[in-house]
Amino acid sequence: MSTLTNIEKAQIQEKIESDLVALKEQISALEEKVKPISPDCGLGRLTRLEAMGEQHVNNKILDEARVRLTRLTNALRRIDKPMFGICIECEENIGVGRMSIRPESVRCVACANTL
Ligand SMILES: [Zn+2]
Repeated sequence: MSTLTNIEKAQIQEKIESDLVALKEQISALEEKVKPISPDCGLGRLTRLEAMGEQHVNNKILDEARVRLTRLTNALRRIDKPMFGICIECEENIGVGRMSIRPESVRCVACANTL
């Protein structure tokens, strides 16, 4: 696989930036949803249990979104460096296909699959 061209890098950078905007919106929406449920908010016991279950799920999604936010932010910092798009395991080019879909990738498909 060949090295990323400047045009490809610019497109990837645009993708990272728009993903970051979407991700930040998702995170603030989730943060609203995972606020503690007050014990006297008028919900019945079952509804309350359901709400707690939903909160648990949302907390997991929130954690994942935060991890991706960090990774994308790091990818944005790396994009102008020579190591961007290079696999940290085998030092081969990760390839524009994978970098376009998952710009936070630090491993090529082959190395990612052997983890
Ligand atoms: Zn690799």
